[in-house]
Amino acid sequence: MFGGVSQRGAWPATIGRGKPASIADNGSFFEASQMKTQVIDGAALARSIRAGLGARVTALAGKNARPGLAVILVGEDPASQVYVRNKSRACEEAGIASFQHSLPASTSQQQLLTLVGTLNRNPAVHGILVQLPLPKHISADAIIRAIAPEKDVDGFHPENVGLLATGNARFVPCTPAGVMRLLAHAGVELAGKHAVVVGRSNIVGKPVALLLLEKHATVTICHSRTPDLGAVIRQADVVVAAVGKPRMIGAEMVKSGAAVIDVGINRIPDGPNAGKLCGDVDYAGLLGKAGCITPVPGGVGPMTIALLLENTVRAAEFAAPNG
Ligand code: NDP
Repeated sequence: MFGGVSQRGAWPATIGRGKPASIADNGSFFEASQMKTQVIDGAALARSIRAGLGARVTALAGKNARPGLAVILVGEDPASQVYVRNKSRACEEAGIASFQHSLPASTSQQQLLTLVGTLNRNPAVHGILVQLPLPKHISADAIIRAIAPEKDVDGFHPENVGLLATGNARFVPCTPAGVMRLLAHAGVELAGKHAVVVGRSNIVGKPVALLLLEKHATVTICHSRTPDLGAVIRQADVVVAAVGKPRMIGAEMVKSGAAVIDVGINRIPDGPNAGKLCGDVDYAGLLGKAGCITPVPGGVGPMTIALLLENTVRAAEFAAPNG
C-alpha cells in the first residue's frame, strides 16, 4: 500500500555477510559487516494517511459537516510562521477548513483566553491548535487548559493527557502518534523489546514513552541528567530521539540492528552544510548499522502534520450527528 519505504520487509533487516558486530580493543563498538538499514519514508507514509482522510471528509460532507481547524500564532517567530503556513496549506488540500489567527507578540494572556473561548463556542471549529512556544508573558499551561478538551487536537489538555495515560486516548499527540505509526509501518515488534526514549518533554518524550509502554515495550526515559547516556542507549532495541541537539546520538551509542526514530529538527551549526536541517542522531553513521531509521527531513516531521489533520477529522466525526 505504501510505496515510499526504500527497503521493504519486516524489521530487523538481515545482516549483510553474516559476520558479527564486535567490541574494538579500545572498547568502542564497530561493525564487522554492514547491515541493510531500512530507511522509513515518513513523507510517503504521511501522504498516504492524508489521502486516506478524503473518504472520511466526504462522509462528513454527507452530514453537512466540514472539519475545521483553528490555528493561533502569537508573535513573529519565523519557524512558527512556517509551521502554521504548512498546517493551513495541508488543511486546504485535505478539504478541512482552516481558520488562522495571527496575533502580535504584545497580545495579553486574557486576550488569548478570550479568543480560545470564542473558538470553543464556534461549531465550525472542531480543532484548536495554539502554536508553541508562546511569548514569555503568556502561560502555555493556562491556554492549553482553556481549550475545550474535545477540540484539543494536539492532545495536550490535562484531560486528554490523563486519557492517554490510562490507555483510553481521545487524541494522541500528533508527533508521538507519528512515531508509533512509523514503527508499525516498518514492522518493528515492540512487545518485550527495550525502548529508550531520549527526551522527556510533555509534547514528545513523555507521551511517546506511554505509547511504547502500551505496546508492551520495556521503556527507559533519558534526559539531561542521565549519566552515561551512551551506555543506556546501547541497550535499546528501539531508540526514539527527541532532544533538539544536532546529531548528538552517535552511531557508537546505538546497538547494531536497533530501530531508530529521530524526532529532532535542528539546523546544522557549521561546516559545508551549515543551516541545513538535521536530526538528533548521526543518520549517515547509522546507515549500515541501524535496522531501520527515519531521515530528517522526511521522517517524523511530515507525519506530525498528517496526524494533526487526522485528529481534526476525528474531532469533527465526534461532533457530527450520529458521529
Ligand atoms: P524540549 O526542549 O522540550 O525537550 C528536550 C528534552 O531533551 C528534554 O527532556 C531534555 O532534558 C533532553 N535533553 C537535552 N539535552 C540532553 C542531553 N544532553 N542528554 C539527554 N537528554 C537531553 O524539546 P521537544 O521535546 O519539544 O523537542 C525535541 C526535538 O524534537 C526538537 O529538535 C524539536 O524541534 C523536535 N520536534 C519535532 C517535531 C516534529 O514534528 N518532527 C515536533 C516536536 C518537536 P531535561 O528535561 O532534563 O531538560
